[in-house]
Amino acid sequence: MSSHLRKRILITGGAGFLGSHLADRMIAAGHDVLVVDNFYTGTKDNIRHLLDNPHFELMRHDVTFPLYVEVDEIFNLACPASPVHYQFDPVQTTKTSVHGAINMLGLAKRVKAKILQSSTSEVYGDPDVHPQTEDYWGHVNCIGIRSCYDEGKRCAETLFFDYWRQHQVRIKVIRIFNTYGPRMHPNDGRVVSNFIVQALKNQPITLFGDGQQTRSFCYCDDLIEGMIRMMNTCDDIVGPINIGNPGEFTIRELAEKVIALTGSSSQLVFRPLPQDDPRQRRPDITLAKEKLGWEPTIQLEQGLKNTINYFDALLSGKLWQ
Ligand code: NAD
Ligand code: UDP
Ligand code: UDP
Repeated sequence: MSSHLRKRILITGGAGFLGSHLADRMIAAGHDVLVVDNFYTGTKDNIRHLLDNPHFELMRHDVTFPLYVEVDEIFNLACPASPVHYQFDPVQTTKTSVHGAINMLGLAKRVKAKILQSSTSEVYGDPDVHPQTEDYWGHVNCIGIRSCYDEGKRCAETLFFDYWRQHQVRIKVIRIFNTYGPRMHPNDGRVVSNFIVQALKNQPITLFGDGQQTRSFCYCDDLIEGMIRMMNTCDDIVGPINIGNPGEFTIRELAEKVIALTGSSSQLVFRPLPQDDPRQRRPDITLAKEKLGWEPTIQLEQGLKNTINYFDALLSGKLWQ
């Protein structure tokens, strides 16, 4: 690629699940990629195959501290995404979203970079409006155990829009709905990885509550495509735009699909529903279709098969040797 088309791309949280897939796509497209990660939930294993690439660079750094680098585009993904992990050190979670956003926006302002925020469907909380459209303001508890994540992400959105209005920083905000796929951490704690690992080990599948709550699951490759399309839109498209798969399933249906696809002998067991667990969630993706020409292409069953193959290889020690 000629040097004027080669962009310098910063991915915060790039050693994580989604960030590492994005890094792969950006390297394949011929760009220079700098990954910044403190390895809280991410791991070098996710990007090990890129470490020898001359166009790839890895920096251990916590985004709650200032960062001085020269880049053209910033994808701000740093933040633990699984309730188990973001609740382990909730103060650090809020700091990561809020101080991390301030630092990355300050960086974008100084170097005049475009910056994309990976926000979340959690800004809608336990939603009264279904499916969720971007103009819905949400139903979020500000003092609960999920608040460090939800309110941190809401405040980050506020900062993005204020840096845009006040400092003309070129921002892009996407709201990501539950996304799954290879490279989720086996102990990540989110439902898809939990169920697949439990099924492959023939251990009980842990349904929280009655399993009738719903989620809409997007495969990682679809999500990354939407994220890149958003970054490439013209400057007047700032979002927020929902990126997710509108196919909605109960958690029990998900468990049954995983059992069927793995041929597991696992039984379902019921555990208490965590506090503030949203009852339902499904994206309205009209805006993504209209502004990005994007919609998901990978059905749950196919995405689950790919993810099961990955965890099967991981658990049997066939990966990263
Ligand atoms: P992940 O936990 O695999 O990745 C997050 C990465 O951020 C990890 O590599 C972690 O080590 C790093 N990180 C955490 N705190 C940091 C800090 N202070 N400084 C530097 N690095 C730090 O999770 P993921 O699913 O890949 O999520 C990526 C982003 O997408 C997150 O911002 C998350 O909120 C957002 N998101 C994900 C989903 C989903 O379903 N996967 C849904 C909504 C939003
Ligand atoms: N910042 C950074 N890298 C830069 C520029 C700024 O990390 O290249 C951080 C810096 O720590 C600052 C924050 O971003 O606190 C916000 O920057 P801004 O310019 O908006 O505010 P100020 O520097 O006036 O506090
Ligand atoms: N869940 C479950 N068993 C598990 C993990 C999660 O039943 O082992 C439920 C959880 O209570 C929630 C849904 O699955 O209703 C999705 O949980 P996850 O942590 O993946 O994401 P989020 O709640 O942030 O959407």
